[in-house]
Amino acid sequence: MKSFFYYGTMNSSKSAQLLMAGHNYESSGKDVIYIKPALDTRSERITSRIGAEHEADYIITDDYFDRANALSNIVLDSLTVSAIFIDEAQFLPPSFIRELLVKLEDTNVSILFYGLLKDFRGHIFDTSKVLLEEVDDIREIKTVCHYCDNKATFNLRTVDGQPVYTGEQLKIGDTDYLSVCRRHYYYPAI
Ligand SMILES: [Zn+2]
Repeated sequence: MKSFFYYGTMNSSKSAQLLMAGHNYESSGKDVIYIKPALDTRSERITSRIGAEHEADYIITDDYFDRANALSNIVLDSLTVSAIFIDEAQFLPPSFIRELLVKLEDTNVSILFYGLLKDFRGHIFDTSKVLLEEVDDIREIKTVCHYCDNKATFNLRTVDGQPVYTGEQLKIGDTDYLSVCRRHYYYPAI
């Protein structure tokens, strides 16, 4: 097994890169599986802002330990799956990640996790921390700051156009996120 963590900020094109990499695997005749957590309830498809999309083969819901086992067994039984693409990996619990990696250790499958490194408070997601510790290869998907040409390394949450630095980690919907550099995280040009 070979494992990868592709991380970026909220507005980097992580899903687009996932879909492109998956397409490359598939067009060379390889079997791949796409999964995403149920917490990302926007849709059952993996979508990117540039319009590409793909149906997720499995939506991972709450019984994570069983789900990791079931998924591993599907891969082990099939003998043809060569890669697993996981979108929004930061929303899966560490137990799911660890179980999947352990179960598939002795295979030739590639597991590619795509997700956010940090939440809007600037804290690394628990699961992203585990991914940094556990995977073979860590790769950054770079984005430029919303306000300047520096690299974006923070996610700025805004509500009604105002920056917000506290609150629940997971909030999808009525908020906006901007990928920004450190300076513009603390001093946004709003
Ligand atoms: Zn900036």
